[in-house]
Amino acid sequence: MKGLLRDILSEVAYGAIRLVGGGGGIRVLTYHRVTDAHPEDRLCVPVKRFAEQMQFLHEAGYRGLTMSQVTKWIRGGNGVSGRRVAITFDDGFEDNYLYAFPELKRWGFTACFFVPTEFIQSGQAGRPEADRPMTWEQMRRMLDAGQEIGGHSVTHRKLTKIPASEWDWEIRGCKEILEEGLERPVDYFCYPAGYYNDEIRQLVEKTGYAGAFTVKPGAVKQGMDPFAISRTEVSAFDSLRDFEKKLAGAYDWMHAAVQRVNHT
Ligand SMILES: [Zn+2]
Repeated sequence: MKGLLRDILSEVAYGAIRLVGGGGGIRVLTYHRVTDAHPEDRLCVPVKRFAEQMQFLHEAGYRGLTMSQVTKWIRGGNGVSGRRVAITFDDGFEDNYLYAFPELKRWGFTACFFVPTEFIQSGQAGRPEADRPMTWEQMRRMLDAGQEIGGHSVTHRKLTKIPASEWDWEIRGCKEILEEGLERPVDYFCYPAGYYNDEIRQLVEKTGYAGAFTVKPGAVKQGMDPFAISRTEVSAFDSLRDFEKKLAGAYDWMHAAVQRVNHT
């Protein structure tokens, strides 16, 4: 969508949301990468911009939630009040450790990093320095500092596009490999590119995960399916004002429209 129209419509939506007292619910933010290496890639948020966003969350009084706090709240728990946000990262690139982790620590936030195990296991050798996966040691260091690691399948293929006989390996195999490598339970799963169906969702629950995340836009509400948790994507091109509006839900309508185009 053209920038100006996008800005006008989101400002109108933001105004309306403020008027009625906020959209309600909790925002779970989706990031992929934090790096200056690929300035044209919307999944690669520049390092300085990410730092500004974490500083903004801190100064605006947001408190971070762990994935277990999010799912407990969805299931009707309380203990969540005031401005709350949860942060997630997909795909397991080393820039998550090098550039996002220090800013998260600095501003007092934690995130869940969803990693595809084949990418991690393939190791760093032979890859361009800017596009390497995290190492096991880096992930363990993040866990020790209160960050979380989640499953993002083994091969990162769209699960609805591969034979059903391979789902168990992608979902259970991923959990087992991560738990062995990290020596820690791995309780949350994120569907690669957001592709799932009811059978896949059931399998994720049966495998022993406590919740799963999609790319469906919108705030997380109590009573929502904890195995189909919506998230709000932060793009490399978002200004701080866009970021603020996304937190308030002023871009949900647009995300929904984009998703309808991309995921049919
Ligand atoms: Zn992914």
